[in-house]
Amino acid sequence: MKILKFGGSSVGDAQRINKVINILLNDYINKKEKFAVVFSAFQGVTDKLIETAHLAVQRKLSYKDELDFLRTKHEDINHQLNNPNSQITDEKINELFDELAGILHGVFLVKELSPRILDFVVSFGEKLSCNIITAALKNRNVDCEYLDASKLIKTDDNFGNARVDFQKTNRNILNYFKKHKSLQVITGFISSADKNEITTLGRGGSDYTASIFGAALNAELIEIWTDVNGILTADPRKVKNAFTLNSVTYEEAMELSHFGAKVIYPPTMLPALQKKIKIVIRNTFNPSFKGTYILEKETSKNFMVKGISSIDDISLIRVQGGGMIGVSGIAARLFNVLARLGINIILITQASSEHSICFAISPKEGNIAKKSIEEEFRLEILDGKIGEVKLEENLSIIAVVGEKMRHTPGVAGTVFNALGTNKINIVAIAQGSSELNISLVINKNELSKALNILHKALLKK
Ligand code: ASP
Ligand code: MG
Repeated sequence: MKILKFGGSSVGDAQRINKVINILLNDYINKKEKFAVVFSAFQGVTDKLIETAHLAVQRKLSYKDELDFLRTKHEDINHQLNNPNSQITDEKINELFDELAGILHGVFLVKELSPRILDFVVSFGEKLSCNIITAALKNRNVDCEYLDASKLIKTDDNFGNARVDFQKTNRNILNYFKKHKSLQVITGFISSADKNEITTLGRGGSDYTASIFGAALNAELIEIWTDVNGILTADPRKVKNAFTLNSVTYEEAMELSHFGAKVIYPPTMLPALQKKIKIVIRNTFNPSFKGTYILEKETSKNFMVKGISSIDDISLIRVQGGGMIGVSGIAARLFNVLARLGINIILITQASSEHSICFAISPKEGNIAKKSIEEEFRLEILDGKIGEVKLEENLSIIAVVGEKMRHTPGVAGTVFNALGTNKINIVAIAQGSSELNISLVINKNELSKALNILHKALLKK
């Protein structure tokens, strides 16, 4: 059994959906492959649903225009796919949009949009796409069924980014597949909490859906079909010699996708990793390309460093002072302040002299973080135990990722040498003890140069 997943860009319009259906027919159905297939909402629909809900809560009547736009878009795609049975699908589309209109009218009236309601609103994207695609497949004589995954994937009630209860979910999926033998067309992204309230698995969560089903059903392979050839060594817009990797490990994939290579949603790796199920990234627009495999151990010819990615815009905050040396609790207080503000820390370094702690955050949170830290340490600053809290802006982080760097001396040397000889100044460095990732902070205006230099030094084909 294989689990396939096609993302929003693969189902952007009727023509693309037909392309997907042809892939399914030629490479899977005609070859009698056993599989199930997960779809995202049509391209742009989730964003549009969020936007519409926000207009409604702000009491802007234009939310109705957005809703009409979405209704027409789905009807058009449905008609272009030309189902003789589109009568039924039209009715279903209408039913879903009437329900959605009712909810949004409620949001408009009570001026309230809780995360719970927003999840319910966005769930319509996947319900619509999968209903329409199921009809289109039936129209091509495929024996298939629509499967609303929110009925099977059970989560907590952390709306917008719910945590999966695997015990219940796996049981539900196994039971369901025992009784349903035809091809299942599965809604990505959506799930439900205890009392059946709709939850979602986080933006981009359809990948995760595929992996949840794959793990529950002990699939031999999870195929994530998207609009690029696979995982690249770097962002091709920044590094002209970037190339597609044949394979990476689960950990490398996770590390690279955390650092901006948005090919796969990071949580997707966990269920697959636990059951050791391979994942492959494939390109819907280049289906003959073999893609990138994500697996436990590498067998192919491989590189010490697998990828170089970056976060283009970050700020650094440095807290330093003689009064910090040997004093416990400073770091705890510092990070507490940030946690209270909900600020995500991207990188931390502390020299062993303990004289300074420095960390990277998103630039838009720089000022508030600086101000709140100054308040927290007001007395220490007055006493001179802590000097000023410094905010440095216009910086970037480069992450050099590769599992084989572990226990291999010399990689860091190559990195620093390459940058040094090209006169690129390193502002801060961090390496996790997993040694999977070396992160460097540099000036933003040197980012592109630095990426190309490092790619050349570390990833010679
Ligand atoms: N439609 C959802 C989103 O746009 C889930 C997905 O595309 O994977 O985030
Ligand atoms: Mg998407």
